[in-house]
Amino acid sequence: MSEIMKAVILGGKARVAVSDTTDIVNQSIQMHQLSPLAAAALGRTLTAGAYLSSNLKGKKDKYSIVVNGGGPLGKIVVAGEAGCNVRGFVENPYVELPYKNGKLDVGGAVGKNGDITIIKDLGLKEPYVGVSKLISGEIAEDFASYLLKSEGITAAVALGVLTDMRGCRAAGGVIVEAMPDATDEDIIILEDIMTNFSGISSMLAEKSAKQIMDFYFGHLDAEIFPSQKITLQCHCKKKIEGVVRSLGRNEAESIIAESGKIEVRCDFCNTVYTFHQDELDKLFGRAHGNHSKFK
Ligand SMILES: [Zn+2]
Repeated sequence: MSEIMKAVILGGKARVAVSDTTDIVNQSIQMHQLSPLAAAALGRTLTAGAYLSSNLKGKKDKYSIVVNGGGPLGKIVVAGEAGCNVRGFVENPYVELPYKNGKLDVGGAVGKNGDITIIKDLGLKEPYVGVSKLISGEIAEDFASYLLKSEGITAAVALGVLTDMRGCRAAGGVIVEAMPDATDEDIIILEDIMTNFSGISSMLAEKSAKQIMDFYFGHLDAEIFPSQKITLQCHCKKKIEGVVRSLGRNEAESIIAESGKIEVRCDFCNTVYTFHQDELDKLFGRAHGNHSKFK
């Protein structure tokens, strides 16, 4: 099970989230045939997304993250909503690069000549749009920099995906946010603890999110909340039907007359939806069809 466990620590002067996203990264690998490198880049971004999802308050609140660094991976797109539902894809899921310092070269694949953009729809008149320059393309420090520059949140972020021959062995992250009343001493304590998580994915191969939370944060005047389940979910059927409906009945019917069907693929979950005349009749209603005329 993928999960996120959160706590308030230091008597309310900081918040921490520890997540295990191994399952949803493995599901994404299956769904998109991701290379290990693409799995690492998307998995880190999905983990950041799960964190954003867990912070949404309204039932209909949602967001999207686009990381566009100009590298061979292309764009990373992650979307999600309240309730810890996430989904995502990368433009080039097959990307491979030589290892860098014995590790997957996520920064090289993503590139760093670009931005991370986060759009939040919180049910207000206008969505909130935050953009910040990428630092390294390694995602964790890009996300931390985004939080500081766009949302004024001082945060330390560790994200990791450990792959092996069979897929993702472990993935997840630790995110600590310092509240405005955190003292310099608090920040030093938190920075010191964060140095333990440079290999967060290897740690998650051995320990659960709860064990990590208890061991590293449990002693810091912590109030630890029950973990929330993270799920990989796509709600694309209605969206895709809307795309076909927007063609208009005449255009849609002329495509079917020419090609026999209309196919639309959802980028997020790779599902292909096929529409024949029957499905069009259902979509547009039968009123103007030539099927059930009264004599
Ligand atoms: Zn979908």
